Amino acid sequence: MIVLVINSGSSSLKYQLFDMGNETMLAKGLIERIGMPGSLLTHRPSGQEPLVIRQAIADHMAAIALAVKALTEPNHGVIASMQAIEAIGHRVAHGGDRFTDAALIDKQVMAAIVSLFPVAPLHNPPAVMGIEACQQMLPAVPQIAVFDTAFHQSIPEAAYMYALPWALHEKYNLRRYGFHGTSHRFVARRLAALMQKPLEALKIITCHLGNGSSLCAVDRGQSIDTTMGFTPLEGLMMGTRVGDIDPAAVLFIMEHEGYTSEQVRDFLNKRCGVLGVSGLSSDFRDLEREAQQGNARCRLALDMFAYRVKKYIGAYTAAMNGLDALVFTAGIGENSAMMRAKICADLTYLGIAVDEEKNIRDGEGDISAVDSRCRVFVIPTNEELMIAQDTFRIARENA
Ligand code: AMP
Repeated sequence: MIVLVINSGSSSLKYQLFDMGNETMLAKGLIERIGMPGSLLTHRPSGQEPLVIRQAIADHMAAIALAVKALTEPNHGVIASMQAIEAIGHRVAHGGDRFTDAALIDKQVMAAIVSLFPVAPLHNPPAVMGIEACQQMLPAVPQIAVFDTAFHQSIPEAAYMYALPWALHEKYNLRRYGFHGTSHRFVARRLAALMQKPLEALKIITCHLGNGSSLCAVDRGQSIDTTMGFTPLEGLMMGTRVGDIDPAAVLFIMEHEGYTSEQVRDFLNKRCGVLGVSGLSSDFRDLEREAQQGNARCRLALDMFAYRVKKYIGAYTAAMNGLDALVFTAGIGENSAMMRAKICADLTYLGIAVDEEKNIRDGEGDISAVDSRCRVFVIPTNEELMIAQDTFRIARENA
């Protein structure tokens, strides 16, 4: 089955085309600046030179049409015609408490995604634009929504509730949802395969450390807690997001800086995190370089980040009453040996010991010391493949 995966943002659209017969990616592409001057498509067929098309791309409909054109084009295309596409999987950030799995998109599913606009104002509306464009372009092809929140629907009530009055929880569904579920699920499964153990026998903490970061406690295959909450702002300190903070400090900032709720939301999402503390950059490569050259605030930002990850590793080991394996993934988790070493330092109490030499690596592998009771792995995430696998499964079930 040929599956197209779409990750639709407000002004960008990413796609990947998979042949699910052997789970190979045939081509991927990025469309940027949709509806703006200077819009372009970068199409990358697997093993071939990329194709760049610069032309006006007015909306998501035009973006999908251009993606299909690139995928079927004689020189850079990878399929003969758009009829070859048998299912389309869409990344949807928020599935609320309704979706515990991916879902075939019908009128009800669409209405449910739209009803979550108030809680996911930045992410769900562009996903709907992508879905509608595909429905128009390829009306006969089944479309599947894969939700970032679905994996976390197994989190027990005691962990997902906020200590708010019950009436507010009921009125607004105000609770913790968690995000990055597709990534946590992918690396947890891959870990079980690498350890040659059933996922149902393992207690795992997955550390998705990128521009947005979250940890997940995966107890025998089920997410039982995660660091992001009602929105992706809770939990770890991130590139530009504040993470856990005393809510009274937010009120203080609003009162003393004169911020409206819109301004403070923007501030907490875009001007805090390691960018805010370092005053320099949200990119960990810049911070590591500057810290090495003696920049104290960059060093502090890195220390704070590592400390918070470490604290949650302790918390989640307690929540699961044990830990068999720790996984690092995403931009920082996959690439920063320094950050992995910093996080895992002095965790021998939990049976975690990283081998210094194995830690300096590229790509997938076990980085634990031989005497480490808990295994430590680096596993590159592949959310698109996970979406393609879900899409393939749901499309087959509904065929
Ligand atoms: P992601 O959101 O998963 O794409 O991760 C992006 C982030 O990963 C970047 O902002 C960098 O901070 C970080 N990153 C990527 N490569 C490296 C590296 N070699 N060393 C440290 N951090 C890195």
